[in-house]
Amino acid sequence: MKLNFNMPVKVVMGSNCIKENSNLFRSFGKKAMLVTGRSSAKRNGAQKDVTDALEAQGIEYLIFDHVMSNPTVSCVYEGAALAKENLVDFIIAIGGGSPMDAGKAIALLAAQDIPKENLFSGQYGNAVLPMILIPTTAGTGSEVTPYSILTNDSQQTKTSISSPFLFPAVAFLDARYTEALSKETTVNTAIDALSHAIEGMLSVKATVMTNALAVHSMEQIADCFPNLESGDFPIEIREKLLYGSMLAGMVIAHTGTTAVHPMGYSLTYFHDIDHGRANGLLLGEYIEFVAANKPELASTIMKSLHLDSVTEWKNILDRLLGDKETITMEQAECYAEKASKSKNIANCLVKPEYEDLLRMFVKSFDLQK
Ligand code: NAP
Ligand code: FE
Repeated sequence: MKLNFNMPVKVVMGSNCIKENSNLFRSFGKKAMLVTGRSSAKRNGAQKDVTDALEAQGIEYLIFDHVMSNPTVSCVYEGAALAKENLVDFIIAIGGGSPMDAGKAIALLAAQDIPKENLFSGQYGNAVLPMILIPTTAGTGSEVTPYSILTNDSQQTKTSISSPFLFPAVAFLDARYTEALSKETTVNTAIDALSHAIEGMLSVKATVMTNALAVHSMEQIADCFPNLESGDFPIEIREKLLYGSMLAGMVIAHTGTTAVHPMGYSLTYFHDIDHGRANGLLLGEYIEFVAANKPELASTIMKSLHLDSVTEWKNILDRLLGDKETITMEQAECYAEKASKSKNIANCLVKPEYEDLLRMFVKSFDLQK
């Protein structure tokens, strides 16, 4: 058996975990920069819990609350300039995947001078500001991954910056912050987490440990299927979703994602479809493709989701996603072409060719071929 498992993030989960562990902030320095989206961190109580904890520890802070969904390169350079100008010692990112990913890129850019044209090169040193991440959606798992995913206009897609130095030092998971999430964002982000667990199992880098985490993650989220359909989310369900999403993050931290993510990036880039929803629109046909080539893998995944068949899986996704967006055949060809060139394809246990990717788009969107 071969294993190479590294999870350097201290994960602290539970109601009130920031207040109860505010001493953890002390070891990171005297000045912090909070990185958040426009408003949710202020409304869901996470920002106040952090600033109370920092004040209790006598740590100064400033707030960069300009992060948009699918953060841009200019946004992270703006945040990094502010961090440098104010000589901050560490970054605290609060929010969904967008502020968490922006926080990671800012932590890197505040510690090193990386020209914009080299940002996606993977060529940088090891200096990075320490990071504390606080997820307020239950989907991306970014709090335990070494990835920062940014909008890459030069390639008309989203591109990941990946480095072991991008692992945060601490992740605080308090499901109370996710209570105000709309049904739509809860569903989309839960599907993103499922996509991570599923794609992780379908990666050439999967190991017995990542598979164990993926199965556990899928079981947690599958327990929530009735709630995702009804829109009723008691706190125990919010906790399960947040826990399942974190587990799936640990999976992709080791395995990376496979074909669904690069296909979905075009739907987000060109049609502004939420990241999790974009994955969900393609996940039914992807499992169908896997089932046709490696039925035993597809059936392990269905079993972990407490389902008997791929058809049942597709029906759940259809109910959760509702009316689908439309794309044209020309767009499907362009997106299949882009996905076929993505480095994630080499990561697939069952490798789709261009024709397979095109067929998945065609069937997912019911296009006439
Ligand atoms: P998001 O873009 O971070 O947030 C979506 C929306 O939800 C925003 O309007 C945000 O408002 C709002 N929101 C966040 N928390 C909320 C709360 N507790 N209550 C109410 N509203 C809340 O969405 P996301 O799906 O979490 O993240 C998607 C991003 O993560 C994508 O860029 C994707 O590529 C990336 N991603 C990263 C990884 C990784 O490993 N790094 C993995 C998967 C996906 P505000 O703007 O006001 O905060
Ligand atoms: Fe994702």
